Amino acid sequence: MIIIKSKKEIDFIRESAKIVAETLQLVKRYAEVGKTTLELDKIAEDYILSNDAIPAFKGYSQAGSISFPGTICSSVNEEVVHGIPSNRVLKDGDVLSIDVGVEKNGYFGDAALTVAIGTISDEKAKLMEATEKSLYIGIEQAKKNNRIGDISAAIEDYIISKGFSIVKDLCGHGVGKYLHEDPQIPNFGRKNSGAKIKNGMTIAIEPMINIGTDEVEIASDGWTVITKDKKASAHFEHTVAIINDYPEILSVS
Ligand code: MG
Repeated sequence: MIIIKSKKEIDFIRESAKIVAETLQLVKRYAEVGKTTLELDKIAEDYILSNDAIPAFKGYSQAGSISFPGTICSSVNEEVVHGIPSNRVLKDGDVLSIDVGVEKNGYFGDAALTVAIGTISDEKAKLMEATEKSLYIGIEQAKKNNRIGDISAAIEDYIISKGFSIVKDLCGHGVGKYLHEDPQIPNFGRKNSGAKIKNGMTIAIEPMINIGTDEVEIASDGWTVITKDKKASAHFEHTVAIINDYPEILSVS
């Protein structure tokens, strides 16, 4: 069931999503060669708590795994999403995807970005650029009377044109009263299919894009999603509300 939000509820989601965006920008500034992902996690957690908010991923459970131990998901190179912060040291040429979720006043915001560590290869730079662009191309379709499939198809068409592959096992989602709500928002699909987009919907759009195969597997920690061919992956995400018939990005600082 898709939960339509009131203006007041969207304001609460905007407040959480703003903290998410600020946290991402802060972590991005500290993400450099020699830092560990655990150090970045601490920076994110301190910032979120100082805003009287709750890290939404910490303690999150899914069937068959330990509850998630981090504030951020930190996913390096072949790690697609859900990487657990650790003593892994960032190296020159890495790409790091950072995903942050925040709860405040009972409402959630969720966003992600990928950053280059030092100097990255042209291929990784092109991957990051295409993934971020596909997010905005998807967001443009999140308008009244379109359907979820219009978002999916726009992302797919663009990514295919760039020669990259789309992770099919994971997708975007409604967000707001819960971290994950209906509808699911795949990053591939058919135009004019799926649920109709309405004012008051709040959704997280999040393309996860690979250089090589679209196939992924779960690492032995039970969380980290990695590409089967170990080639790099990128991830960008925004929380978006449909207001006055058009998308407004809420995860901005
Ligand atoms: Mg999400």
